[in-house]
Formats: sequence, C-alpha cells, structure tokens
Amino acid sequence: MAVVMKPGASEEDIERVVRFVREKYGLRTDVSRGEFQTVIGLIGDEDRVDFERLATLPGVERAYRITSPYRLVSRNFFPEDRVIEIKGVKIGGNNRPVFIAGPCAIESKEQIFRIAREVYEAGADILRGGAFKPRTSVHSFQGLGEEGLEYLAKAGEEYGMPTISEVRSEKHVELVAKYVDILQIGARNMYNQDLIEEAARQKKPILLKRSFGASIEEFLSFAERAVAQGNKDVILCERGILPIGRGRQFTRYSLDLSAVPVIKKETYLPIIVDPSHGTGRRDLIYPMSKAAIAAGAHGLMIEVHYNPDEALSDGPQMIHPRDLKKIIDVCKKIYEINSTEG
Ligand code: PEP
Ligand code: MN
Repeated sequence: MAVVMKPGASEEDIERVVRFVREKYGLRTDVSRGEFQTVIGLIGDEDRVDFERLATLPGVERAYRITSPYRLVSRNFFPEDRVIEIKGVKIGGNNRPVFIAGPCAIESKEQIFRIAREVYEAGADILRGGAFKPRTSVHSFQGLGEEGLEYLAKAGEEYGMPTISEVRSEKHVELVAKYVDILQIGARNMYNQDLIEEAARQKKPILLKRSFGASIEEFLSFAERAVAQGNKDVILCERGILPIGRGRQFTRYSLDLSAVPVIKKETYLPIIVDPSHGTGRRDLIYPMSKAAIAAGAHGLMIEVHYNPDEALSDGPQMIHPRDLKKIIDVCKKIYEINSTEG
C-alpha cells in the first residue's frame, strides 16, 4: 500500500501516519521523500489495513493498494529516479553512465595497484575486485580475503576511486563493509535473503546481481528486501541468464539487454550491465557494452587485467585496459545521443 501525502504535508502529518500504521496494524513503513511529495509505503501483511480510514488522516492525499511483490521499489509507488552518490560518483537518473572496472579477483598488491592506475587512466569511475570469490571448484583460486580488501581499499584511495567487492556470506558482511564503498551481492546469492538483509543494514550502497535463473519479478522482489531494511541505495546489475538449447554454447550466459528498459519502467532504481560475465568472451565486451548503453543502462561493470591470459580467474572474458578506454569513450558518445532523444 502507498500513502501519498499532500505536497504541503508537515513532518507531523507524516509522523502521524507512520505511528498510526505501526500502532494499529503492527506494520513498518518506508518513507520516500521526493522533491514535491512524500510517499509512505507499508511493510508487512497489509490485508487488515483500512485504507479508506488512512486516507482521512490529516495531510494525506490518497492511500491505495499496490499488489506487486516489489511495491517499495516500484515506479507506481514512487516515480522519481533514485540517484546514488558514492564519493562524488553519481549512478542513476539522467547522469552519464558509470564505469566500474577492475580484475575478477585481487591477486596481489602489485596487481590491483597497477590495474587501478590503468583503469583510472582509461576513465573508470569505480574500482572492482573480488576478495571472497564464489567458485564452483574448491581447487580454484578463492581470493585473498581480508588481505585483498586492504589492497583494494588502498588502491581506490590512491586513485580517488570508490571501490566495490563481493560479499559472499553473511559472516563476512561487516568485514567487507569496513573496506569497500559498495557491497556486491553476486548472482549465486541473489536469492539469499539473510545476506541481502544483513548487507542492507550496513548503510552502504548495494549492487545486486540478477541470478542467471531469475525472472525480472524475482530480481526486483529481492531488491525489495534490501529497501525494506531502510536502504534505498540499491544498484541492480544484469549479468546474463542461462542460455537455452543443447548445442554448442557460444557464450557463457545470454545477456538479457531487454531487461534494461523493462527494469527502468518497473523501478526507479539504477540498472547497470556486466557484459564480462554476461558473455564470458573478451571479443564481445565492446559490442555488448555499446548495446547496453544504447538500451539505457546507467553503467557497466567490466573485468580488466593487464595480462588476461595469466589471470587467476575469468581470463577469457577480461579485457586489456587500453580496450577499456575505447569502450568508455564510445559509450559516452552513445549516452549523448540517447540524451538528445528527449
Ligand atoms: C563477479 O562479478 O565477480 C561475479 C562473480 O559475478 P556473478 O555473480 O555475476 O557471477
Ligand atoms: Mn569474474
């Protein structure tokens, strides 16, 4: 349910609605303050709520039911784009696309510092690097853990870039939050509600990746979980879904670019695209990056390494920093063209 306050509603009016639904129905609320109007969402089982009664409270313009499972993140609930600002980098709305780049995994201090410098010079805004890697095989490189996070934080500081790293387990949430600016929840954990809720409680932006088997409705429903914790700084990331058919697969996953305009219609949260995991192929990063920005993505996340063939994970999909510059330059031009469309 959404309670839309009148444009001139006072703080007292808002507080009265919040108190009313808490005391009368035992529900929590989510207060979204827009430029002109405030909208209050109810969290929990709202079947018993008498919204005609709610609509009579002072300062309330209207109260209505939204049945979608992802009502708090829905544009029907709140129409204004969410712009997330991280150390001066703005993601979402009409801002130019943001470029997140870095290695799949942090391998050493030298490696992350060198990549940080090279992606910074190529025009990247945010530095990525995995320290707790989700790996299929226990015999693969698992990441450097806290040591890796220390290097990542220092490299980000050195080049003035905010940082992002994946938090794979609830038990690492506080540790990862101590070092990075954005907490990444990987595709394998998109359904992990305890992890999402614990990450959201850190009061840091979250990047939630779509699971390779998830519908858009499921994806947004798990973003809703973070927002229901009072954290609206959720960046969505399309990273490819499972390909169909039994023949030879030419890509690691199928990058679902139609999800970008669909998600932009459904929610006010920013949506970025990861063409690296989405394709698994270095030669496809350039065309799919261009297509993602043309489709309206708010940014890209790209895996970069100065020596992809020696990388400890995901070498085949990592590009060289000089190729990153080419992608960023062309994507900025595509963004300009999109902006002139009105
Ligand atoms: C990653 O971005 O490091 C990663 C493991 O991606 P995904 O969760 O999309 O597989
Ligand atoms: Mn990777």
